[in-house]
Amino acid sequence: MGNWTRRGILGSLSGAAAAPWLAAQQAAPVRRTGSGPIKITDLKCAIIGRNPVVRVVTDQGISGYGQAESTKPYLKPMVLFYKSFIVGEDPTDVARVMLKIRRYGAFKPWGSAVSAIEMALWDIAGQAAGLPVYKLLGGKIRDRVRVYNGGVRFPMTGQTPQHYAENMARMKEAKEGFTLIKQAVGFHNAAMMRAIPDAWYDEPRSGGAHPNRGLLTERGLKHIVACVEAMKKVLGDEVGLALDCGPGWTVKDAITFARAIEPLHITWLEDLLTGDYTPYPNAELYREVTQSTSVPIHTGEQIYLRENFKDLIEKQAVNVLGPDPEDAGGIAEMKWIAEHADLHGILMAPHGIFDGLFGVAAQVHLGAVCPQNYIAFEYAVGQPEWWYDIVEGLPNPIVKKGFIDVWDRPGLGVTFNVKAARARLSEEDRGFFD
Ligand SMILES: [Mg+2]
Repeated sequence: MGNWTRRGILGSLSGAAAAPWLAAQQAAPVRRTGSGPIKITDLKCAIIGRNPVVRVVTDQGISGYGQAESTKPYLKPMVLFYKSFIVGEDPTDVARVMLKIRRYGAFKPWGSAVSAIEMALWDIAGQAAGLPVYKLLGGKIRDRVRVYNGGVRFPMTGQTPQHYAENMARMKEAKEGFTLIKQAVGFHNAAMMRAIPDAWYDEPRSGGAHPNRGLLTERGLKHIVACVEAMKKVLGDEVGLALDCGPGWTVKDAITFARAIEPLHITWLEDLLTGDYTPYPNAELYREVTQSTSVPIHTGEQIYLRENFKDLIEKQAVNVLGPDPEDAGGIAEMKWIAEHADLHGILMAPHGIFDGLFGVAAQVHLGAVCPQNYIAFEYAVGQPEWWYDIVEGLPNPIVKKGFIDVWDRPGLGVTFNVKAARARLSEEDRGFFD
């Protein structure tokens, strides 16, 4: 596959696309036009590309931006639902504003609107204080943040172990220099499961994300294990391999699979039982899997609010949590989860594959302040690629040798090139930047 695929599908940045972006890095922060308490005057939402983008407007010339996953272009009415709750509030009292709206959210996808608003509030608070968001969250404990590859992908040309090995070799060579790569297997990878007849004891189902579950056949399990072995052979001990597996596995299949691949030193097994778009976790079942294998067990990307992580954490049901700041309730919510997890010996690997470029910025601030249970966050690419032309402030290249350097501009430290971004607005959202 040629350069076109890397740029067109993956949204990687190179060549001419980088030029406006470089100039943008010197962009001056927005100046506050008043003094005294700041008030929220409006809450707006536009769908830019496929990403819902939130703009919290204030009476003092500062706007804050937040973003939700590109898989949720339907989110605008949910965002606007919260407008009457927050207009008139002081956005720099982030926690007080959040008290008003956090109760009116739910597991993925319904926590996204609240989460995106929270990000925008921190963006405003940082700009008003003249400080980067990470300073407001307690200050950074690392100058660069490790990312893992869940989004820089190359098309699969088949579903045999050899195809998975070849594809993994391409990801290993990617210019970002990832030190950890995640691949979908099992029920999280419909193509892998469809490639062999009778991989599990149910008929294949369609509709929504990850609709299949059931008991694996011996043939199905052997195929998954063979693909994992082939990928690991390519990576050796140079680059870590994590596996996004479900949801949909039975407890016993999960244990059999985990034990079968124990010698391969897999970094984690994600969402085996419940997970993406499952509106509940099951701590007792996860604990049984976790206690039965040496492979780290991971879940959490769909879970909303710290309260819903309590059981998983306090029952030590998993070894790694992967909440997403665009689903869990925001950046500070993630910090609470990370700290509580750390007290219980549980690691953090924030999810974020579809979070877009503002999502990357939020993740960098979060990663800077997470305790030492932090592993890496899932690096999102801008899609379509023109996203790199409408956002200012990200480093270029963004990822160097698997890390992103933490920047120190106020707020999230990234913002829109309004002139360029305005051209990408739909007719319906034409007034978004006004
Ligand atoms: Mg996942």
